[in-house]
Amino acid sequence: MSFKRQLAHHTWSEVAALDKADGVVILPIGAMEQHGHHLPLLTDTLIVNRMLEAALAALPDEVAAWTLPTLPYGKSNEHTGFPGTISLGAQTLVAVLHDIARSLNDAGFRRLALLNGHGGNAALLEMMAREIRAATGQLCFCLQPALFLDPPFPISAEERCLGFHGGELETSLLLTIAPELVEMDKAVRHYADYPGAGGGGSPLFFFGAAASAWLSRDWSVSGIFGDATLGTAEKGDALIAAGGQGLADLLRVISTFKTTH
Ligand SMILES: [Zn+2]
Repeated sequence: MSFKRQLAHHTWSEVAALDKADGVVILPIGAMEQHGHHLPLLTDTLIVNRMLEAALAALPDEVAAWTLPTLPYGKSNEHTGFPGTISLGAQTLVAVLHDIARSLNDAGFRRLALLNGHGGNAALLEMMAREIRAATGQLCFCLQPALFLDPPFPISAEERCLGFHGGELETSLLLTIAPELVEMDKAVRHYADYPGAGGGGSPLFFFGAAASAWLSRDWSVSGIFGDATLGTAEKGDALIAAGGQGLADLLRVISTFKTTH
């Protein structure tokens, strides 16, 4: 490798000397929050770390990309009431992202990619990417979990619609990333009985154009949304291979991206 991918492994003088005209700094953002009875609280953080590891391994040496240590907490207040969930307030996360971005800008970096591992962070990160762009002048990109949770194998329509937390996909990923932390005998199948689920006549849904500000406990006793019993390590491997390559391709494009003015 022509240079170290972990920015924190450099010395300050090495960072000063880096050629930053091209290149991107990646800030992975995870969560510590409930994922049912069978997955660890750190699930989203473990997934985003593993996806980034796969992406960096697939990235050619000539692509300048450096990763920051992962932020292991996010905005997880949709899981309020499930013990062990640690949630940063929206204002806290905004402030942390501002401070990190400003520090990178001061060091001379020109591109920052926010790599999100947790759906509950999505809206805030999208907002912050533009705040950072406008406030610091550096280009800022917002990469969401949908990038690496698009399964390269068939899943049911029900799972695709309602399997968004601790279901088939996240369980599969944890079975390959950290099988020692998964208790499959406690895995459950739960599809929330939401009025709009499956086009059931209501214009409202969890996400989309007309969404409610849902809390997990309103719709799931276990905290699971989806069918966790369908998880396998083989599916997890396939997700990592597809997600890692997709992310690597994206980082290559981002590392030299320029605006017209
Ligand atoms: Zn998750």
